[in-house]
Amino acid sequence: MESLRKVLELERAKGFADTAVIGGLDSFLGRLLKGNRSTAGARLRTALRALPPRGYAGLATGERRRWVEGLLAGLANGPAPARASPVVHKAPAVVSPPTGRRSPARLSAAGGVTLDSSIEVLKGVSRATAARLARLGVRTIRDLLYHFPHRYSDFAHIRPISQLVVGEEQTVLATVWTAAETTIGRRLKGSEAVVGDETGTLRVIWWGQRYVARQLRPGMRLALSGRVTVFRGQRQMENPEYEPLTSDDLIHTARLVPVYPLTEGLSPRVVRRIAKETLDAFAERVPDTMPPSTQERLGLWPAPRALRQMHYPDSLDAAEMARRSLALRELLMIQVGVLKRRQAWQAAGRAHPLGLPPAAAEGFVASLPFSLTAAQRRSMAEIAADIAREVPMSRLLQGDVGSGKTVVATAALLAAAASGCQGAIMAPTEILAGQHYRTISALFSDGGEPLWSGVFQPSYLGRPLRVTLLTGSLAAKEKAAAQEAISRGEVDIAIGTHALIQEEVSFPRLGLVVVDEQHRFGVMQRATLRAKGGCPHLLVMTATPIPRTLALTVYGDLDISLIDEMPPGRKRVKTIRALSHERDETYGFVREQVQQGRQAYIICPLVEESEVIAAKAAVQEYEYLVREVFPDLRLGLVHGRVPVVEREAQMRAFRDGRLDILVSTAVVEVGIDVANATVMLVEGADRFGLSQLHQFRGRVGRGEHQSYCILLSDNPSEEAQERLRLMESIYDGFRLAEEDLRLRGPGEYFGTRQTGLPDLRVARLSDVDLLQQARAEAARVLEADPALARSEHRPLAREVSRLWDSKLTAEVG
Ligand code: ADP
Ligand code: MG
Repeated sequence: MESLRKVLELERAKGFADTAVIGGLDSFLGRLLKGNRSTAGARLRTALRALPPRGYAGLATGERRRWVEGLLAGLANGPAPARASPVVHKAPAVVSPPTGRRSPARLSAAGGVTLDSSIEVLKGVSRATAARLARLGVRTIRDLLYHFPHRYSDFAHIRPISQLVVGEEQTVLATVWTAAETTIGRRLKGSEAVVGDETGTLRVIWWGQRYVARQLRPGMRLALSGRVTVFRGQRQMENPEYEPLTSDDLIHTARLVPVYPLTEGLSPRVVRRIAKETLDAFAERVPDTMPPSTQERLGLWPAPRALRQMHYPDSLDAAEMARRSLALRELLMIQVGVLKRRQAWQAAGRAHPLGLPPAAAEGFVASLPFSLTAAQRRSMAEIAADIAREVPMSRLLQGDVGSGKTVVATAALLAAAASGCQGAIMAPTEILAGQHYRTISALFSDGGEPLWSGVFQPSYLGRPLRVTLLTGSLAAKEKAAAQEAISRGEVDIAIGTHALIQEEVSFPRLGLVVVDEQHRFGVMQRATLRAKGGCPHLLVMTATPIPRTLALTVYGDLDISLIDEMPPGRKRVKTIRALSHERDETYGFVREQVQQGRQAYIICPLVEESEVIAAKAAVQEYEYLVREVFPDLRLGLVHGRVPVVEREAQMRAFRDGRLDILVSTAVVEVGIDVANATVMLVEGADRFGLSQLHQFRGRVGRGEHQSYCILLSDNPSEEAQERLRLMESIYDGFRLAEEDLRLRGPGEYFGTRQTGLPDLRVARLSDVDLLQQARAEAARVLEADPALARSEHRPLAREVSRLWDSKLTAEVG
């Protein structure tokens, strides 16, 4: 019955096209059954009875898969005929080891092993190996299945030795003549072998790998895959992958060989072997999160096949097909997650419809000291349309630093007030809240003075408007007064920090919440927010230029308004690259600016190890600058370990001109507005992403004076300088973000971890088409089955909650 299992597996590998055996599966099965009395035979008979009159050939692909997999599970399940367990997870792991090969990584046949079991249950995975794999984030069997190669070596070309081509990667099948340790030069040790086939002999060298010689014996048959080079006029192969030719299943050679991300102490051979055996044993048990109907419509592979082909593809095209198949599942899962979140937000209740009478809207716009850009107008209109409805808005307002988001948000807050509701705007820091308070107050002053503190009487509104600041550091009396006024419904617009939602405040008529610089705010406190006051409309503002693909995943539950245009007449910040030998001149320039009455920021180099080390480095930098470079100037220091109150005090001192230079780690990235600051000096600029540099640059150039961004680096490499050169020529945050993505990949660009999203393992941010398909599919699925209750959606539902629930809980908690 071994042949039955093999044929069924082949059939599965070939996508259930009934091509595993010549003449089709039906006639093969018939032949096999004749006179067969084994338990497997009994099982096969039972299975055959489930087939329609036309047999296997008469089944559709999905039915074929279920039938084959049921039978395979039955065959694996041991002697007692049983129905295949519907709970795939719980099925015992029974593994057929590759024939004829003793494998140290053979899996145990013990029951109870699930995809979530630790990889330590796998034989051949020692505690040490498990610890090394854990460093790559691989802890469970599922992790291992999804630990994909980052590329493949093409060893599919087998050639006789006489036809090897110098410079290419090829595979030869040969016999070992001699093998020994060798010393090359004075120090470098390695292994050397001479191998041969009918057409010639070949010298093989493994630099630095003495153990290879110990594994090779004269007379052994080997498959060797590697690059052919010439040494003293003779062809040789260097550091090839090799595999004894005893197994019929060449996992290391003679095909596309996966190259896995590795960590110290993990050999590629070990990882490949573990991966291969895990795949053989568990790929079929991975619950397919994509409904079969979706698979068929999009022409994608079932998950097990995609998984196998992702690791051991038949061709590069197959690898890409596998990647797309898995990427779409991943994106579908994320889209279902974000759309469900949106659904929950919208279904939880009705919002107050908010709107400004046209005359008031015109009056507000006319009262502004500038005319709005087209992008601002468009965003205002989009928001106005949303908040006019009872469905609570969830919208992202995205615009580069200085693009003028505040005025757009203010129009919405005004609409809330005009409709008899309250509006709130939350900023991540006290200083930003204060800044908003002043900016917004100025916008409502209508050129005149407030009636009294915090109360305005804009001519276009026809009634007074009360604005209140509420932050944690207010004096107890003021704070209590603000809280009370808000709770009594007397405040139209509340501006503040976390204090707005954390302290004893309730909003009797909360109509709109604006959250500024969201991802610094901690991912989402929407649930808390909602608990504060019914079902407000939500507007999130961010200056982070997020490329569209990323936006659809990170902020997938939000609609997006984009301010893609700067107010006219902005002076461009001059951007200059400097190398460390130009440091003195750079400091000289900073000093000159300060002597002219300007101020400067100095950003310390990025230290990735930890906040503590970053803080230490910043303190050192600061002390050096104070002692050696600017002893006569007033310097301040902010970094992540400085308590918030102290940090804000420093920033305030800088804003009020009591400091000349603010030394900082990346924390000043938040949008403080100091018009007199004209120099942004970034140390170790090459370590930052372009988007981040752009954010730094946005901190200057806010006033009338020419501003400068100096990118200092001690990395003269062409690559680093090329990247920094982009900063000199590109001033558009979005274009820089795209460049960043292209050059450094998503992880570097924008850690999805901090956004609270599941990590993307397969999908790329450039997969715009897949993303759109996933989005459409997710909407379709949720429309048809909002609770994901149908059986075909169950694996998807399970996966979505597995990946999202902890995050959602963390958010709410
Ligand atoms: P950000 O999008 O970074 O939050 P702000 O809303 O703080 O930008 O606006 C930056 C500055 O630009 C403010 O001083 C604001 O008054 C000004 N501003 C906003 N819109 C315009 C405009 N259309 N024309 C000229 N200046 C504008
Ligand atoms: Mg702002």
